Amino acid sequence: MFQYDERKLKDQLLELIRLAATDLPKDVVESIQAAHTDEPEGSAAKSVFGMILKNIELARAESTPICQDTGTNIYLVYIPEGVGMRKLTSLIKEATAEAVDKSYLRPNAVDSLTGKNSGNNIGEGQPFIHFEEWDNDFIEFKLMLKGGGCENVSTQYKLPDVGLGAGRDLDGVYKVIVDAVNQAQGLGCAPGILGIGIGGDRAASHLGAKTQLFRKMTDTNSNPDLAVLETKLKGDLNKLGVGPMGFGGNTTVMGVKMGSMHRLPASFFVSISYMCWAYRRHSMTLNIKGEVSYD
Ligand code: SF4
Repeated sequence: MFQYDERKLKDQLLELIRLAATDLPKDVVESIQAAHTDEPEGSAAKSVFGMILKNIELARAESTPICQDTGTNIYLVYIPEGVGMRKLTSLIKEATAEAVDKSYLRPNAVDSLTGKNSGNNIGEGQPFIHFEEWDNDFIEFKLMLKGGGCENVSTQYKLPDVGLGAGRDLDGVYKVIVDAVNQAQGLGCAPGILGIGIGGDRAASHLGAKTQLFRKMTDTNSNPDLAVLETKLKGDLNKLGVGPMGFGGNTTVMGVKMGSMHRLPASFFVSISYMCWAYRRHSMTLNIKGEVSYD
């Protein structure tokens, strides 16, 4: 039976939140550095990427949030058989409230009906926690902070889309993704990283899209057709010239990550989860000895 020290785990979760809010992952920073190098001297895009890199450095050095919007806290938690979800949920919530006290997180949970802020980032559906049981003998917590601006330009299409000439195939998927990035322009704090969910019902499709954003920037899709399409989309979207924050430039998206699932014959959804440059995600594993490691 997997056991853990609850008090210690709460502190370890707090550290995961601090890392996610203040320390952009290495693969993301490297992508931003590459985009900075790729812009001509003196251009607005070069200057924007320079400011973004400075911002990242300062946030890490001072342990302060990378962006004022610390986003929706999205957890994927993988547990061995027999580990209770309710206790882990309550520890995550406790760590979340403490992270607000320490100013790692902004109080971001607002009652949709009254407009009242809960004050501690906790509310119905906040933080969002998705559990899955697995065969490993350790727990993994994956955390992503997703800002409101980029969530607002995230979208979902239903194929076929006659207006875009998009049918129920990968060419149709390509067309709606290009349309979504064109519609977003610089909104959503470009350059974006796109998580794409193909198929499922409407809800599963959106969750599938968000789940893609937990992949590393540098990985390759295990599905060869999607791997080709990811590379093609990244190249073609960067020809749009939207650039960082919409100032124009060579990098409009830093990555495209796609996944698919089965669907009803009657439905074909394509969900696009748009992530901003403040692509905050980290993970933590907890083994049976109570040892943690962060990535
Ligand atoms: S979209 Fe991202 S970078 Fe822009 S304000 Fe929101 S969290 Fe910050």
